[in-house]
Amino acid sequence: MSQVVQDGVRPLIDGFGRRITYLRISVTDRCDLRCRYCMAEAMSFMPRDQILSLEEIAAIADAFIARGVRKIRLTGGEPLIRKGVPELAGIIGRHIANGDLDELTLTTNGTNLARTAPALVDAGVRRVNVSLDSRDPERFRHITRWGDVDKVLEGIAAAKAAGLRVKINMVALKGLNEDEIEPMLRWCADEGHDLTLIETMPLGMIDEDRTDRYLPLDQVRDTLASRFTLTPLADRTGGPARYHRVEELDTRIGLITPLTENFCAGCNRVRITATGRLYMCLGHDDKVDLKTALRSGGPEALDALLDQAMALKPLRHDFRIDEREAAPAVVRHMSVTGG
Ligand code: SAM
Ligand code: SF4
Repeated sequence: MSQVVQDGVRPLIDGFGRRITYLRISVTDRCDLRCRYCMAEAMSFMPRDQILSLEEIAAIADAFIARGVRKIRLTGGEPLIRKGVPELAGIIGRHIANGDLDELTLTTNGTNLARTAPALVDAGVRRVNVSLDSRDPERFRHITRWGDVDKVLEGIAAAKAAGLRVKINMVALKGLNEDEIEPMLRWCADEGHDLTLIETMPLGMIDEDRTDRYLPLDQVRDTLASRFTLTPLADRTGGPARYHRVEELDTRIGLITPLTENFCAGCNRVRITATGRLYMCLGHDDKVDLKTALRSGGPEALDALLDQAMALKPLRHDFRIDEREAAPAVVRHMSVTGG
């Protein structure tokens, strides 16, 4: 079969002509918190003997980079609770030094960031996304079920001190943190962090009905626009966020709107789970098993499977959250596929 070659690589192009340049790797589905919109309190996690070794993760990252992936995000679950993740970042990060990778980033809940930030910088990480749904200790504890916000704030401060750019991810939750959106924006502006708001998505069963907490971000944008001058920006960072400049605060805000404004047309990313399943979309079940391919056929089998996977990428997700007690769009939690 003849294949297109661009700039010396055989790019990964899906059936709709979208080039895949962004890989998210979930290094573990486990977490030290239990955010109510993400997980049930009594979660069952994948058996440890099914999880990819760090060497296998590095080999899979190599295979994607060889096919033109330019950005990798390590995520989870909580990536920084797995031993050896800063070292894994160092192994993947060597591709930045030799020009084969533009960026290696990480999404974390921040609880272990104070301890790991310097090692992440040494590994070549320059930006981290930290989830922070509230700066109020009681609320933070409620949302995460037992988290300590001071630990996260310490982690964020350590990341900044180590030279990492920090983007705060805040899931907008009706009646839980909507009154904190403006204070969070002001705090981020003062601290020099970016802020991205996210709509809660119907992924996996949790202990409550997400409809009760769903806050459409078009409403939030309108409320902010009545308080500030919002100028839409063309910046895209390879992710789904749409950015607005907040003129009065000299900062910007990103909105991730999987429900109110579909962004799939520009999708450039795929995700692998900690067990080596490659999912083509957060909201669909199409997947291939990279772990078996790697273990049984080595790098060649892995490479061939990437081509097969491209044909499986769907045009778009179809999330809905407006039907009370409706089943989730997919049974996998975001902590499995990797946020
Ligand atoms: N544990 C890390 C963290 O919290 O940043 C990384 C994994 S977490 C799954 C990645 C992001 O997904 C977080 O910003 C989290 O708030 C978000 N998230 C989790 N479940 C979600 C859901 N059902 N809808 C929208 N965002 C969700
Ligand atoms: Fe853990 Fe992140 Fe999910 Fe919260 S959002 S439970 S920190 S994986």
